[in-house]
Amino acid sequence: MTPALPYTSLSPAELAAELASLRSQYAELVAKDLSIDITRGVPSTAQLDLSADLLTLPAGEYRDGDGVDCRNYGGVLGLRELREIFAELLEVPSANLVAGNNSSLELMHNLIVESLLHTPVDGAAPWAADPNRKFLCPAPGYDRHFAVTADLGFELVPVRMLADGPDVDQVAELIAEDPSVKGMWLVPTYSNPTGTIISEQTIRKLLALPAAAPDFRLVLDNAYALHPIVGDSPVGRPFLAWAEEAGLPNRPLVFASTSKITLAGSGVSFFAASKANLDWHLARAGKRSIGPDKLNQLRHVLFFRDAAGVRAHMRRHKELLAPKFALVLKILEDRLGSAKIASWTEPQGGYFVSLDVLPGTAREVVRLAKEAGVALTPAGATFPHGADPQDANIRIAPTFLPESKLADAIEATSTCALLAAAEKLAEGNAG
Ligand code: PMP
Repeated sequence: MTPALPYTSLSPAELAAELASLRSQYAELVAKDLSIDITRGVPSTAQLDLSADLLTLPAGEYRDGDGVDCRNYGGVLGLRELREIFAELLEVPSANLVAGNNSSLELMHNLIVESLLHTPVDGAAPWAADPNRKFLCPAPGYDRHFAVTADLGFELVPVRMLADGPDVDQVAELIAEDPSVKGMWLVPTYSNPTGTIISEQTIRKLLALPAAAPDFRLVLDNAYALHPIVGDSPVGRPFLAWAEEAGLPNRPLVFASTSKITLAGSGVSFFAASKANLDWHLARAGKRSIGPDKLNQLRHVLFFRDAAGVRAHMRRHKELLAPKFALVLKILEDRLGSAKIASWTEPQGGYFVSLDVLPGTAREVVRLAKEAGVALTPAGATFPHGADPQDANIRIAPTFLPESKLADAIEATSTCALLAAAEKLAEGNAG
């Protein structure tokens, strides 16, 4: 049992007794011989099954509403009908939206590589010409974003993530004088991993800040735009229109995909941007490929029919996910609430819960969990170069596991968080 007192107010003798109890709880945990992987935010089998009918489509039909034979080459923009459905959902004009293949991460990678090799719209030179090029990384954030820009030779500059989004004052300072800062990652809705809905005010400020680089880009990865767990998705997020109003229409590059809507490995990706950016990109994309997988796009048109069809589908995901998130939050509160050695987010949507354990113990918690057969996302993964200055943040991905295993994983994580905290505080007493 965890005492109903914060660990920091326990006397040395009480803390020693608590530590002894936690060590025996941990020994019991190890004896259970669990084998659970909760490392990545992937949809569960039941979620994938929601899209089972996709696999029977297009069922003999291979022309879209415009009569395009989707089996053939061509159509670098993607199918009009699909672009119209998602333009409505993403609140961008369909003329500014392209539909691609199965991965938006690949599209983001492409856009950055293109910017390294060719002078971007408004820019003075290809980004590769600048050996000091930098990218701003709100942290905690998405490890694969950070990996793309690290791999392509950018220095990753962490930006503090506050309760309502990145620290705009810090961004303003970083970009005002330094033309080597080329861009910034941002997940605007239900951020990975904190679940933050970045406010309209913050995004508008980021779209308008003076930047030394004329081609500074805000990468708005809207991977979770349509993924509420509690309530409805935030509405009215027309990022391209806001950028135009700010007089910097070419600053935002907006991405999304159906990876967490239909099939994670076989969905459709989207890219939205100003006409100038889109034309610039299509000039490269048209050389790389003679067109996307239009049959898969047609499958998605036939499956959803319209934007309301996508919304109805997302309600089914919500029904599957809401109990899992509620379970995680309940166990964290029951096990960690009174000890006051940890805090965590209570996301309204998205795929993650962000857990902050006692500073200086996240690596130890992950190590203890691994020894007990529970694989957590590596500590530090949510920070550029895997370096969490506080060694506190752990990303929890509740979506994939069935509820019984999820409960085991979060119980185990809680035991490890308490044990690591008690060990650390006891060390302090000893010192
Ligand atoms: N962006 C974010 C923020 C994500 O969390 C993920 C998946 N974990 C992706 C992009 C990957 O998107 P896609 O499958 O379209 O490449």
